[in-house]
Amino acid sequence: MATFLGEQLDFIYFFYGLAFMLLGAVCMSGAGGGAREESWTALGLFGYSHGCLEWMELFALVVGDDRYFALLRFVFLTVSFLFLLEFARLEWARLGHGIDVTIYAPLIFPVALVALWSGLPAANVVARYLIAFIGASAAACAVARRAQNLSGDGRRFLRFAAVGFALYSVAAGLVVGPAPFFPANELNARSFVAVTGTPIQLWRGLLGCWIAFSVWSIRQNQLALELASRRYTDYLRKQFGWTIAAMAAILLGGWALTNYLGKIYNHSVVMEARGDLALLASRLGSETDALDAMARTLAGTPSVRAALQTKGPSTDEEATSALELHVDASGAEIGMIMNRSGAVVAAAGRRAGMAEARDYARRGSFTEALSGASARCFVFDRTRGVIEYAAGEPIRNAVGDVVGVAQLVRTLADVEIDLIGFEHAYYLVDPDGVVAMTNRPDNMLRPMWPLDATQAEAAERRFGALRGRPMLKREFVDDIWTSVNDERQYLRRSFARGGGWSLVLATPTRELFASRVLGIIVTLLATTMTLIYLVGKERRLHDGIQMDKRLHLQELARDLGQQAVTDPLTGLFNRLRIDQALASEMARAGRYGDPLSLVLFDVDFFKAINDAHGHQAGDRALVRLADAARALVRRSDLLARWGGEEFILLTPGSDGAMARNAAEKLRAAVERLSFEDIGKITCSFGVTQYVDGDTAETMVRRADRALYLAKLNGRNRVESVLESDASSNG
Ligand code: GH3
Ligand code: MG
Ligand code: MG
Repeated sequence: MATFLGEQLDFIYFFYGLAFMLLGAVCMSGAGGGAREESWTALGLFGYSHGCLEWMELFALVVGDDRYFALLRFVFLTVSFLFLLEFARLEWARLGHGIDVTIYAPLIFPVALVALWSGLPAANVVARYLIAFIGASAAACAVARRAQNLSGDGRRFLRFAAVGFALYSVAAGLVVGPAPFFPANELNARSFVAVTGTPIQLWRGLLGCWIAFSVWSIRQNQLALELASRRYTDYLRKQFGWTIAAMAAILLGGWALTNYLGKIYNHSVVMEARGDLALLASRLGSETDALDAMARTLAGTPSVRAALQTKGPSTDEEATSALELHVDASGAEIGMIMNRSGAVVAAAGRRAGMAEARDYARRGSFTEALSGASARCFVFDRTRGVIEYAAGEPIRNAVGDVVGVAQLVRTLADVEIDLIGFEHAYYLVDPDGVVAMTNRPDNMLRPMWPLDATQAEAAERRFGALRGRPMLKREFVDDIWTSVNDERQYLRRSFARGGGWSLVLATPTRELFASRVLGIIVTLLATTMTLIYLVGKERRLHDGIQMDKRLHLQELARDLGQQAVTDPLTGLFNRLRIDQALASEMARAGRYGDPLSLVLFDVDFFKAINDAHGHQAGDRALVRLADAARALVRRSDLLARWGGEEFILLTPGSDGAMARNAAEKLRAAVERLSFEDIGKITCSFGVTQYVDGDTAETMVRRADRALYLAKLNGRNRVESVLESDASSNG
């Protein structure tokens, strides 16, 4: 699990950064107005800067790191945590506990001091203890306190955020990088992986998500309260679920894609390593095979066999010359013929005279060959520090019994020189796991994997003191993806003939991350597009609802305005409206000399109708009369209920005579109407026209006089008074 997640560190950094970027975006978005609080801005800056930091970590992992980049990241780390602390400080200030900004001095100063004194890793640890831990836990307390002042969802979300901050204070403020002082030497990212099997970055990222989503809920809740729309609240709730589901799906999909791309790369690494290893093995094999073949022909040479069976100077001489021939041809350093008891019958070669070398060479494969098998083995020559190959072959008499051993030994120095320039590191590893030949001199005589006590003892006897710590954590058989000396590598192993010796090829896999980055970029794009889509949809709905509300209010205002000028019973204009119209039309008539007339009419004997048929029948009759009159008058005329069963008609553009015609038409129409329960009714009409110097009052008074005349003259008739009182009097 830990190794697997270790391979996924790039995606984890990406996710980690994304979570904090999201937090930044959530805090910084105007979120539909809302009380934009300073503390949210500080938290948003924390999110953005910390997100940037994690993406820089990702960059360092993929592209490589250097001193200045590490310094830049340290600055981002410190600054981001300071923003978090500032958020906590502002939150406390809102709760009425102002803390002065001078609090920063005793926190920043030690961090800077440690950075200068002990370097960035230690300063990183101190920054986490002093700033991140204090900042996050203070934020947790402040948010929890704020939750107490709220109720309902708002309280729940704030509490949720508080728990997130509390957990984050542990994950980011206590689980620090390993450092040689307490408690960082005990509780650190390394011990965390050892105990949980998961990298701390994963948890910090998850907590970042937690905080981002809880802050988002808080903001959404504020928005929902502000807009107070059921539809919007429901939508936000649904959208929240959708967003989480979509993000989870995209991240999982992106992660699968990233791994898939990584696998394509892995596949090519494996194929390449296979080819290279085959090449190495054949280079080594061509050397050893030649020696094997020579040993075999040597053992089968009659003079060699004869020398072991019949004693005599001539046979020895013949055997020696055959041996010399084979030694020369195979390039061996020593060639020997030994009898069953191990005594050297004949020896040849550059080092044949050296007793020590002979003794050493004999040890290589003698016993095994004596038992009748072809014995092949690699031997490490401690005195010279070189690896040698020994081929031992049983010598048989005519009936097939083993009578001695022919042995050829040569160094692999040629191969070694050939392979110095080999692109990737290779290791020839002895059966116990010690590197006996390599093109990486630093790793010579280093254990490949941990040896147990007996293995270590045997190895030391063979090689002398081993050098360095084991390269790997455990032995592997076919291949392994691992990290050697902090470099990611693919190791592939194949066994050589000769008693458990193996060749190991190490290929660096640095580009693995580069090939995975495409998956990460695709995931980032998908996340961004989805968020833009979701946020856009939410905005549209929010704005739509706001627009609806505005329209509704406008309608309401219009209706209210309409009501103010409408007579509720008949739906005609009321007295207020006709007063306004009269004033403006009279002003126009006075200014431009346009004619303007007024007709006042009143139902005849309405009191009697009410008395006979009831007030409601009277009302119905008034409504019917109003409808009929409205249908008859011109659009430019203004018909209104003057009061009771009296109506008024204002006819702009008509002089007295024309108005009289209109009144006559109305009178005749009313006369023709028949009312359900009442039968027939009639109206009397008084007509007047605008005269210079008129006021509304004088004009209406004249119309009233005309109406009175109509009543007086027998009702159901039209009378006009066209001259002003003054002129008629005069
Ligand atoms: P005339 O005008 O022909 O002289 O006779 P009249 O009976 O119509 O006389 P008057 O104008 O004095 O009486 C008006 C009556 O109209 C009084 C009241 O009962 C009735 N009336 C006034 N407003 C309403 C109303 O809104 N609904 C009903 N049903 N009756 C009304
Ligand atoms: Mg009346
Ligand atoms: Mg009347």
